[in-house]
Amino acid sequence: MQMDKDKQSALLGLTLQELTDLAEGASQPAYRGKQLFHALYSERITALEQISTLPLEFRSTLDQQDFEVGLPTVEKKFVSTDGTVRYLLSFADGQSVEAVWMPEGDDGESGDGSEAGEHLDAPRKDASRKYARATICLSSQVGCAVDCQFCLTALLGIKRNLSSGEIVGQVCAILNDQKVSPPHDRVNLVFMGMGEPFLNYPNFIKAVGLFVDGVGIPESRMTVSTAGIVPRIYDLSAEPVRPKLAISLNASNDALRTQLMPINKKWNLEKLLLAAREFQLRPREKLTFEYVLLDEVNDSPVNAREVLELLRGLRAKINLIALNPGPGIAFHTPAQQRVLEFQRILVEGGIPAFIRRPRGRDIFAACGQLKRTAELANVS
Ligand code: SAH
Repeated sequence: MQMDKDKQSALLGLTLQELTDLAEGASQPAYRGKQLFHALYSERITALEQISTLPLEFRSTLDQQDFEVGLPTVEKKFVSTDGTVRYLLSFADGQSVEAVWMPEGDDGESGDGSEAGEHLDAPRKDASRKYARATICLSSQVGCAVDCQFCLTALLGIKRNLSSGEIVGQVCAILNDQKVSPPHDRVNLVFMGMGEPFLNYPNFIKAVGLFVDGVGIPESRMTVSTAGIVPRIYDLSAEPVRPKLAISLNASNDALRTQLMPINKKWNLEKLLLAAREFQLRPREKLTFEYVLLDEVNDSPVNAREVLELLRGLRAKINLIALNPGPGIAFHTPAQQRVLEFQRILVEGGIPAFIRRPRGRDIFAACGQLKRTAELANVS
């Protein structure tokens, strides 16, 4: 492994095989790799000296090679009146992203009652727990290149991709801070924070494997959302282990979608929906489409009927998100009446449609609002 002397190398992000190779490279038995893997992802240690079972000799070799655990630092925490917590997390190079903790798991993905045996308001079985379940919304890039016109993250532009260790590290840092541990505690993950996960595909999919094998979060409790990077939809479909797929539709025809999401010029609705139709769903699995409702722009009954036509025949549900406003965003939030009417047309047309409850709007943690603190932190 190439070592840059000025830079620490993160252990977080390495697979069991990579950690085993590292151990063997340091003349240690292979099971030391397994110990490291368990300590990093299951115990979620914050420093190497916490692995008391590791021989001193191996620990000092790792030190000499400038290895560190590589957890991000919690720079700031904002707590919403609804229990949502927005985290500003910084990495070794000073770049930062935001990730969001949502107790009760109202992620609009599994919390909408559409999954077998799940009910939003089900009583808690284990009174000692603080919540029935929780969802972590995590970031895949610093900033974003996709430039959706209604999203605050877009205003940052793209700074860089996150490594797989930085993607996993967000979850480890938040689990530690919340004193929560899967699989005992039920945690859902949504790749719906800053960035476009499919423009950082290898690191995203490696992180998925580490969540499943290391942290103990099953693939069925993860959802990845894409703005529509079509070739990667086909790639995801072929993965042996993968999250559920959500597609940000956000418009009902090409002219409108190109105006709102420039990515539509590259992959239009025809290409996007063909990929959706060819996506290999698991038994009982559904595709999710997300649709941000912008007042008088994409939220009319005509738009709703166009959406019905687009999604006809797909095993899908749709999550409606009334625009979460922000500075520099030219659109307005539709009145509840319009949102309900849009939903009614979809449901009567045969598509399950849910209205996503905004979480943590008061702390700028809701969909499309992740940017503020990152920007403030960069200027300070
Ligand atoms: N880049 C990926 C992952 C981000 S998910 C994607 O686009 O899917 C973020 C979700 O929030 C997307 O469905 C997006 O359409 C939605 N969103 C973006 N800005 C929003 C805003 N201001 N209000 C409500 N939802 C928004």
